[in-house]
Amino acid sequence: MKITNEQGLPAPLVALLARDFYTKGASQYSVTELMSPPKIRRMREQYDDEIVIDVTKLIASQLGTFMHSKLEGKAIEGYTNEERIFHSIDGITISGAIDLQEHTDNGVVIIDYKFVKAWSVIQALANNKDDWVTQLNIYKWLIETVKKQKVCGLKICAIIKDYSPHATQENYPKAEAMMIDIPMWDSVTTETYVRQRLDMHRFAKQAQEFGEELQPCTDEERWMSETIYAVKREGRKTAIRVFKTIEEATELAEKEKGYVEERKGEPKRCTGDFCGVSKWCKQYQGELNESA
Ligand code: SF4
Repeated sequence: MKITNEQGLPAPLVALLARDFYTKGASQYSVTELMSPPKIRRMREQYDDEIVIDVTKLIASQLGTFMHSKLEGKAIEGYTNEERIFHSIDGITISGAIDLQEHTDNGVVIIDYKFVKAWSVIQALANNKDDWVTQLNIYKWLIETVKKQKVCGLKICAIIKDYSPHATQENYPKAEAMMIDIPMWDSVTTETYVRQRLDMHRFAKQAQEFGEELQPCTDEERWMSETIYAVKREGRKTAIRVFKTIEEATELAEKEKGYVEERKGEPKRCTGDFCGVSKWCKQYQGELNESA
């Protein structure tokens, strides 16, 4: 991967941002890699020499990394900081780096720091952050399986980068940081999930080695936003109202003597090239060609 500096940032800042703090030790898959779409992982490996990323794109993730490294040094009795746990399953080693373990009389509480926008917290409080639930439950499974310790709670410590005290949305965080409880899975559910993901990654690797087409990314993996229907009227710039179904929108449009504008859902991971491989992706490029 090649890192550019299009904004002419000072060299020390570029060196700091470009430094790779991340390590997965001797494991073949970190928990986050296991959860990531197999197609993206395979394509990133394939095009690693050709991927170009500007250093400004590393800022958001590296700010979180810097905070993590500072927190790692804060030893407080009753807590274990930043521990990487390894486990071998079906001959493959996976590992998870657990930010914080709080040792209580009832067992271990796993705490994961997230440096996020308020939107992520709103989603989590509406039970729409499946990736957080999955990640923390794999950590739980690792502690229970490898360390043979009981886990009695899972929590996200969300630090909100764009907090506004004036926001009025439902589930908007009440302060710049908050604790969020995450539901727990039993170990059978988690192990089944882990095995399924390992199979998916294994099949993708085999497909790539045989020159076969990779399994397409799903809508969820592509961060597909919902298609919505805006009721509009001639001469008015903004929509009168926006609906999730065309039926509701049509009903209001008839009453208001307006019309319905369909706003198609967008695969944001593809359109924003957040996967880093969109220009080589036949799935996405094919869609662009179709709509051209
Ligand atoms: S461009 Fe979209 S479909 Fe293609 S690999 Fe990236 S996320 Fe997946």
